[in-house]
Amino acid sequence: MIGRAVLSRGAKLAAAASVRRGAVGASLTAHHGAATQMISAREFSAFMDAYDEHVEERKAEDIVPRPLNAEQMSDLVEQLKNPEKGEEERLVELLESRVPPGVDEAAYVKASFLTAVAKGETESPLVDRKHAAKLLGTMQGGYNVAPLIELLDDEELGQIAADALKHTLLVFDAFHDVEDKAKAGNAMAKEVIESWAKAEWFLKKEKVPEKITVTIFMVPGETNTDDLSPAPDAWSRPDIPLHAKAMLKNPREGIDDAMKQIAELKEKGFPLAYCGDVVGTGSSRKSAINSVLWHMGDDIPFVPNKRTGGVVLGGKIAPIFFNTAEDSGALPIEMDVDKLKMGSVVDIYPYDGVVKDHESGEEITTFKLASDVLFDEVQAGGRIPLIIGRGLTAKACESLGKEPSDVFRVPGKIEPKEDQGYTLAQKMVGKACGLDGVLPHNYCEPIMTTVGSQDTTGPMTRDELKDLACLGFQSDLVMQSFCHTAAYPKPVDVVTHHTLPDFIRNRGGVSLRPGDGIIHSWLNRMLLPDTVGTGGDSHTRFPLGISFPAGSGLVAFAAATGSMPLSMPESVRVRFHGEMQPGITLRDLVHAIPYQAIQDGHLTVAKQGKKNIFSGRILEIEGLPNLKCEQAFELSDASAERSAAGCTIELNEEPIIEYLKSNIVLLQWMIAEGYGDARTIERRIGKMEDWIANPVLLRADKNAEYAATIDIDLNEIKEPVVCCPNDPDDAKLLSEVQGDKIDEVFIGSCMTNVGHFRAAGKLLSQQEGEVPTRLWIAPPTKMDESTLSDEGYYSTFGTSGARLEMPGCSLCMGNQARVKENSTVVSTSTRNFPNRLGKGANVYLASAELAAVSAIFGYLPTPEEYLKKHEFLQKDADDTYRYMNFNEMDDYVAKAQGSK
Ligand code: SF4
Repeated sequence: MIGRAVLSRGAKLAAAASVRRGAVGASLTAHHGAATQMISAREFSAFMDAYDEHVEERKAEDIVPRPLNAEQMSDLVEQLKNPEKGEEERLVELLESRVPPGVDEAAYVKASFLTAVAKGETESPLVDRKHAAKLLGTMQGGYNVAPLIELLDDEELGQIAADALKHTLLVFDAFHDVEDKAKAGNAMAKEVIESWAKAEWFLKKEKVPEKITVTIFMVPGETNTDDLSPAPDAWSRPDIPLHAKAMLKNPREGIDDAMKQIAELKEKGFPLAYCGDVVGTGSSRKSAINSVLWHMGDDIPFVPNKRTGGVVLGGKIAPIFFNTAEDSGALPIEMDVDKLKMGSVVDIYPYDGVVKDHESGEEITTFKLASDVLFDEVQAGGRIPLIIGRGLTAKACESLGKEPSDVFRVPGKIEPKEDQGYTLAQKMVGKACGLDGVLPHNYCEPIMTTVGSQDTTGPMTRDELKDLACLGFQSDLVMQSFCHTAAYPKPVDVVTHHTLPDFIRNRGGVSLRPGDGIIHSWLNRMLLPDTVGTGGDSHTRFPLGISFPAGSGLVAFAAATGSMPLSMPESVRVRFHGEMQPGITLRDLVHAIPYQAIQDGHLTVAKQGKKNIFSGRILEIEGLPNLKCEQAFELSDASAERSAAGCTIELNEEPIIEYLKSNIVLLQWMIAEGYGDARTIERRIGKMEDWIANPVLLRADKNAEYAATIDIDLNEIKEPVVCCPNDPDDAKLLSEVQGDKIDEVFIGSCMTNVGHFRAAGKLLSQQEGEVPTRLWIAPPTKMDESTLSDEGYYSTFGTSGARLEMPGCSLCMGNQARVKENSTVVSTSTRNFPNRLGKGANVYLASAELAAVSAIFGYLPTPEEYLKKHEFLQKDADDTYRYMNFNEMDDYVAKAQGSK
């Protein structure tokens, strides 16, 4: 940052005030003339004062200033036209390096100014025409593309514009404008097309070096994304430098003051490599890799407050985190990390797969990269720029009638063996790629029919969409929710609530409203069978079709382009047999999956040398084909806790038809309620109706191959299964943990539906007065809330002393209300990672039914105590486990009919 040697802030303000006074009539003497000239300029630079103040504030926090916003950029334009003496260098630096690229509003102002200068429509003593054209070329795509294409015709600036476009990837349909000019004989445009075809944008970037020297930043055990990007700090995620300060803020083994330790290790003079036994489990937070790269990556020229590059080493790297690292241009490597120590300096030889001690040259460990394509990804600055750039090169080759480029590494293709069929997931992905199936490890780019975005990652997705220069979604349906921040919003969340809906709708997406409820409970109701989608929340786990949750960068890519890169994962089949036993709930079956996997030796709870057969694979569940779709989601949702890449559930046509008929009415009701974009919702209704008219489902082939099959005998599950503090893999029978005192109980999250609350309400109604525990109730959606209220359950919850939360994520997210420190909790939420629900909290995951019984007793009951209480529910189970069929609910039907 360039310093500013001018008046102190007090003097500046006093001077400005005197000028203002002068402006209303006082005559200034000649003696003051020179000062007046300077101060008059300052009068126009109130933004610089404010900016200086901001710089100082951020400096006090040891972070760089925020990028300029549109208003500041407008002020900067005025300054550039009439600069204050002594400020010239700094003004140019602000213009060059402190404005986000793409289609950010500030980028719009910057591109407009530079275009006007380049075309001679306005002037600045600091930026001439050539400089303006060059700077347009640093803006990566979006608002700079059209002016650069126009400048290809300019005699003086044509070459500069051509050189800029050769390295601009985010041109999308503007490719055809360049192509048209080239065909019409514009030599500069021809150069651009030829350069794209030769992939000069890629070849001129630095290759991954033969040797990378790093200092190891070792975090023993498992790092989940909440450790890297804590939920209570979710509000600061779009502000990468600020949010990065919260990384590893909770002390843990080997980490007492992460920021201090990082600063000390950097003094060794090498970049740091993040290293851990298990890295990146949990939520699909791009913010997690953003924080790592802020501390351990490289600056991106002309892009403020974002970094790329960096190295992540892990005994196991969770698949979504691996992908977000790839997207960001980092090099993730799985290897044995046992011999890597905090602060040791090592040489990584990525092409040879060896790590050596930097001093002695002694071999420490070896590894094999997940794919050689990683080299291209790092060279291109990330997987996303690589995919977009490869597409541009392919188009340019086609336009010139050349063979496809052989510059890029091609992932190997695995063909089916004789008589090898496809699993259900392989068929679904195949259908989205126009193929019969896609076998594991094959690279593909399936069509993303449905994309979800939630509110803590939404602002980052918005930034990524701007970076991708996206002005309209190519994905058929993109939906935004506000479930994570609606209940207890911070000022920054309120701004998001006000601005994000329009951003989404203006691009053709569907925006929910704060208070509507949880993303998945809504998005599931917009799904089409046998289609593929994604979402910026690790619990985007469709009960129909399949989803591959992703970080915000990839979600933005999927929304913007309508497809997503995927290396097809292997599948693990889980087969249920037999009959459900009395008192056993679907949640117990969810937990029976890790329980059985532990018995079969496929899963271990200890982090060191951890075994997890599900990690990075697709969970394919069979044997429960008549589940309602709401129930199926309980199973698919929890595949996130298995660290699975995705999940399919084999269902029959009937429950799907029932669900879609209900959902059509809900979507019609949404249109009548003023939700938008209405055309997108209407289009989805039409596709649902089409499917119901011809309800055919894909089925797994009998000769499909799985990495493993886990069989679960329902006859053997005779008591509830819980996941113990604080690991969702630590599944045990209730009898193994019975009697543990319980302080708080949470019934809520996307794992619940209206049936769970009825069941809890009926159990609670069997006891007098308040329960001895602190009880939290948070329905997933506002429709559940109003139904439960109408049916009198809210009265029961109130009598029990429950705290009633707004529909949404509530305690599950951990960024809003929290349980008391060090309390013991029974929760129906998805995961129980340390500190997620409350600092030092010990959390058991259990069914709503067991949670309610635990709330009544104040301890984990014995199986006998639980089953005795549960008997009461069996009298009218049909009433309890009734789902929200909107096509049978008069209010919704009446309103929906009005929308037609
Ligand atoms: S309820 Fe929990 S798991 Fe579900 S979307 Fe909200 S925070 Fe994520």
